Amino acid sequence: STMRTSVDSPRNMQLVRSRLLKGTSLRSTIIGVIPNTSDPTSDCEELPSLHRIGTAALAVQVVGSNWPKPHYTLLVTGLCRFQILQLLKEKPYPVAEVEQLDRLEQFTNQHKSEEELGELSEQFYKYAVQLVEMLDMSVPAVAKLRRLLDNLPREALPDILTSIIRTSNQEKLQILDAVRLEERFKMTIPLLVRQIEGLKLLQKTRKPKQDDDKRVVAIRPNRRINHIPSTAEEEEEEEDHDDVVMLEKKIRTSSMSEQALKVCLKEIKRLKKMPQSMPEYALTRNYLELMVELPWNKSTKDRLEIRAARILLDNDHYAMEKLKKRVLEYLAVRQLKNNLKGPILCFVGPPGVGKTSVGRSIAKTLGREFHRIALGGVCDQSDIRGHRRTYVGSMPGRIINGLKTVGVNNPVFLLDEVDKLGKSLQGDPAAALLEVLDPEQNHSFTDHYLNVAFDLSQVLFIATANTIATIPPALLDRMEVIQVPGYTQEEKIEIAHRHLIPKQLEQHGLTPQQIQIPQVTTLDIITRYTREAGVRSLDRKLGAICRAVAVKVAEGQHKETKPDRAEVGDGEDCKEHVTEDAKPESISDTADLALPPEMPILIDFHALKDILGPPMYEMEVSERLSQPGVAIGLAWTPLGGEIMFVEASRMDGEGQLTLTGQLGDVMKESAHLAISWLRSNAKRFQLTNASGSFDLLDNTDIHLHFPAGAVTKDGPSAGVTIVTCLASLFSGRLVCSDVAMTGEITLRGLVLPVGGIKDKVLAAHRAGLKRIIIPQRNEKDLEEIALNVRQDLTFVMASCLDEVLNAAFDGGFSVKPRVERLNSKL
Ligand code: ADP
Repeated sequence: STMRTSVDSPRNMQLVRSRLLKGTSLRSTIIGVIPNTSDPTSDCEELPSLHRIGTAALAVQVVGSNWPKPHYTLLVTGLCRFQILQLLKEKPYPVAEVEQLDRLEQFTNQHKSEEELGELSEQFYKYAVQLVEMLDMSVPAVAKLRRLLDNLPREALPDILTSIIRTSNQEKLQILDAVRLEERFKMTIPLLVRQIEGLKLLQKTRKPKQDDDKRVVAIRPNRRINHIPSTAEEEEEEEDHDDVVMLEKKIRTSSMSEQALKVCLKEIKRLKKMPQSMPEYALTRNYLELMVELPWNKSTKDRLEIRAARILLDNDHYAMEKLKKRVLEYLAVRQLKNNLKGPILCFVGPPGVGKTSVGRSIAKTLGREFHRIALGGVCDQSDIRGHRRTYVGSMPGRIINGLKTVGVNNPVFLLDEVDKLGKSLQGDPAAALLEVLDPEQNHSFTDHYLNVAFDLSQVLFIATANTIATIPPALLDRMEVIQVPGYTQEEKIEIAHRHLIPKQLEQHGLTPQQIQIPQVTTLDIITRYTREAGVRSLDRKLGAICRAVAVKVAEGQHKETKPDRAEVGDGEDCKEHVTEDAKPESISDTADLALPPEMPILIDFHALKDILGPPMYEMEVSERLSQPGVAIGLAWTPLGGEIMFVEASRMDGEGQLTLTGQLGDVMKESAHLAISWLRSNAKRFQLTNASGSFDLLDNTDIHLHFPAGAVTKDGPSAGVTIVTCLASLFSGRLVCSDVAMTGEITLRGLVLPVGGIKDKVLAAHRAGLKRIIIPQRNEKDLEEIALNVRQDLTFVMASCLDEVLNAAFDGGFSVKPRVERLNSKL
């Protein structure tokens, strides 16, 4: 058979150089290969004592390489065994007088005990077949081996199989020494049986995997050659060579850029010369395969019709008018001017408001492929731009990978969560993204792995983020931000009934004839079970309802008694028992099977409570405002607006202010500002501490707390709330229970504008508040808010703190007219 062996000792290198490479006759290509019996690392100068018997071999191929150190790789085919008679010379390479031990024709002629041999060989053949058949036949090498077993003369089998099965060096030497055929058969049969037993054990302990089988096949003895030339390896070799030729053909026919083609052809040239055992071989091959696969010139045809796009967007998404309008403008410009070097759209808004799904709709309207690249937590620039090919395990970046996945060069790429890009020692991924997103540069985007430019100008990039605060400024500069605010309750109800419920029904295999969710129930879910700006957890709750109903419906198909209304609303959930109950009943009494449950199952509040548990959010507002020293503020978070209770209490002390609730510096400053302003105006408002003094901090400590202490809060907009809360504490009056407020304060008592008004107002509306105090200069922001929300609420525009306090307390926070003591000067 044929094997590959690596040669790197000086003596052997010399042999290759002066005999194999220089020689011209056929004789000079035959060498003797003798197993190395001593430690291979120790033999530097002395020729080790040679094993008595070796194998003559024909050197078929010699490949030289300098990596990792100078060596030759020989492909040798075994011819026959020989015995060393006398060593003629040792330097520069050993030459010996030898005697040939076996000849092929000799086997067939000179049998003394032919019968015994025939039996042995038959037995051997059976074991060999059994062994090979235990391997995975789908591996080409195994199938070839199976064919070989039948085609080769039986005498050749022991040598071939010994080279394949797992044996120790000692055993291999023994078989090499076994010149007589009979002896060879006898010696190898136990080894075969051992291997078969081993394989059986392996198969018992785990499911055989292809890899394992391959490994068994691939185990070959070291520096040991069998003398029967076989074709197995050569064919494999040829196959690999064919692959390379195919690859080359693919490269030439692919439509890659000229520069890329040049690089690929150079690489394939290198590949052809490279021995396959080199790690670089696989690396280069992977690289070339990727290059061939990339969609250099393949694109889908845009089908863009603005009217259809409008209908499609409207069909897929309810509300979000501003966003849809901007997207349509964007698409219209694209239609008029094919090459658009416009800004990248970036949708900014709380989670679950449909940013990703609008991106998907855009791809659908354009008839383009869609690919989402999640950037959250990416902190290595090679994630975007790939690793250089010198690294082990290097790969292309996500952009190139995405292109490979979609297979066209003009997909819609959704860069999800650009605000959550990280930064680390491995470079700044945002900087890498700059190149990707810049229309002036991205026609020649160079991934480190590819190392040639790829044209990204046809790709349509859309980004999404929860907040623009953490998007790197340079990146933000390249994008056009479109705010996607949260939904109002009415919008959520519509979205639920038009989109979410039908989708959930379909996912759970239910029909509207089986389940009905009236609008009041949806409203209940929205107000009592969710508190969010988007619709994601609403969607989840609807999913939970559908699951529970699916159980009822499936149960109804088996149960004899039909579940009545009481059962749906009953506290004890019967879905747990379905699996146990259903079987015996359905077997025992088939007559009642036909009775379906009462359809449709109506989800009312009782059912809701049964399925989703007790409500998670109650209208707790009035309860919490039953003591002085509590006020409701409005906060903006990346997840949408929220209402926030500010609580204050006072106690005897030394005039200290304690703040709790994970506050940022700006928030702490607001608290100090508020106290200072109140102290300076204490007399005017008749505010006193416990002992009746106008110096509010005299012998008094104040504690301010912002609940939900696990969430860090910062920003100036809580100023007015803190003032109101403290004013309530010191005046002993209750703040109106339906008022929420927001606004920054100054030391002089002015109210300054703040951001996020729309989200804050929606949050207050969600929480059922009625009156909202906002800074005067934020009045213009109210226009963005839907009319029905505005109608539900009363807005108070305040420009100074007096106005805030007057609006926050029932009957106003009266400023006592100063009672001037008239000192008679008479
Ligand atoms: P985001 O990317 O903003 O976090 P998604 O795009 O993943 O949110 O939206 C979450 C789910 O809500 C999706 O299933 C989407 O279909 C649905 N959804 C959100 N807004 C709307 C809307 N206006 N109309 C219809 N479905 C919506």
